[in-house]
Amino acid sequence: MENKKPIIGITCSTKEISGQETAYLHYSYATSVMNAGGVPVILPMGDKETAQEWAALCDGLLLSGGEDIDPQQIGAEPHPNLGKIIPERDKTEMDLIHYAQELNIPIFAICRGIQVLNGALGGTLYQDVKDELEEVIKHSQDGARSAATHSITVEKDTLLAKILGTHEIAINSFHHMAVKEAAPGLKVTARSSDGVVEAMESTDLDKHWILAVQWHPEDMTEVSEEMHQLFVHFVETCAKGTYKKQSAV
Ligand code: MN
Repeated sequence: MENKKPIIGITCSTKEISGQETAYLHYSYATSVMNAGGVPVILPMGDKETAQEWAALCDGLLLSGGEDIDPQQIGAEPHPNLGKIIPERDKTEMDLIHYAQELNIPIFAICRGIQVLNGALGGTLYQDVKDELEEVIKHSQDGARSAATHSITVEKDTLLAKILGTHEIAINSFHHMAVKEAAPGLKVTARSSDGVVEAMESTDLDKHWILAVQWHPEDMTEVSEEMHQLFVHFVETCAKGTYKKQSAV
C-alpha cells in the first residue's frame, strides 16, 4: 500500500481498574502520535517471541512513561525510596529495545522510557535524585501536566537542538529517577541546571535513530510547537522506512 502512515508501537503500563488488571496509557501519547501523522498501536506486556513480532510489525517504537524500573533488571539493588515496580513491563520493554536495535527501528523514549533504554543498553541510573544528589531542583512538579516548570540546556550540534531550534527551553518534570552514566551508544544532549540528565540520543543516528527525553512532551504538544516537532520528526523518520531492515520473523 502506498502512502502508508507509519505504525508507532507505544508501550503501556498495567493498572488495576474495577478489580481487573488493565492495559493503561495516557491518551496524550496516542493523540500526539496521530497529530504528527503516525498510527499509534498500544503494546501490552508480552513474552520475548511476542516482542519480536511487535518489532517486526512496527515502524517506530515509543517507550512511554510510568512506574519505576526494577533496579534488579539492570544489576542494581533497590534504594529505600524506590516506588512501585512492574518487572514484567521492564522485561517486555527491554526485549522490544533489543529487537528494535536488531531491525533498526527508530526509538523515541519518554521519561521512564529514557531510564529503561539507558538501563537496557548498559547504562546506570539514580533511583532517587533528591536523595542521591547534593543539590537538586524540583523534578516532581505539582499541578498541570502541560506546564513547563524547569529549564534545560541543550548541547549544540545535536539532533535535539536541531528539532527544538533552541539551546534553552522550559519543560515539564515528573520523575525522581534519572540517568547516571550514559550507556554505550548513547550520549547526553540536555541537562537541567543541577546537572541531571534530561535528554539523550544515539551517538550514530544513521546507524540507529534514538531520541530520549526525561520530560513528558506528549502532555505539551498542544501548547508547544517544539514538543509537537519532537513527534513530527520521530514519525517522519519512521515513515522513511529506509531505517527498517527486512524482518527476520
Ligand atoms: Mn526534570
